[in-house]
Amino acid sequence: MAACTQFTCSHCGFKVDAWSDGNPYLTDRDGKRHFFYHPGDYWEPRAFYQQQTGCDEVREDEYLAFWKERGGNEGDWLCLQCGRQTRRDPKRDRMRCTGCSKPKLRNTNRLEGRTCPKCRKGIFRGEMTAIS
Ligand SMILES: [Zn+2]
Ligand SMILES: [Zn+2]
Repeated sequence: MAACTQFTCSHCGFKVDAWSDGNPYLTDRDGKRHFFYHPGDYWEPRAFYQQQTGCDEVREDEYLAFWKERGGNEGDWLCLQCGRQTRRDPKRDRMRCTGCSKPKLRNTNRLEGRTCPKCRKGIFRGEMTAIS
């Protein structure tokens, strides 16, 4: 279950969607991130683990260690300087905006009351829009 809050600027109407769960991923041998969008999905990440390690059997402790070493969660971030939206894992990624290179990224779940980067006049107000 993921809840979505939509933040809307009170002045220019700029909208940003914020999903509560983020985007969990595992990294493969080449450093590419594979996303597992359904946190309740049991088999998909385990199949990935088997493919990556060559293990026939999934031992729960080794599987959890694999998540610790190779896994993460990308959240949605908004640059409060230039308004660019981006996905980052704050534990692993550089938290600077790729657009303006300022360290002004803010998690989109925490935009309530913040000044809108597009018009710099309005502030964001959140509204719950969807549960999927
Ligand atoms: Zn605005
Ligand atoms: Zn920026």
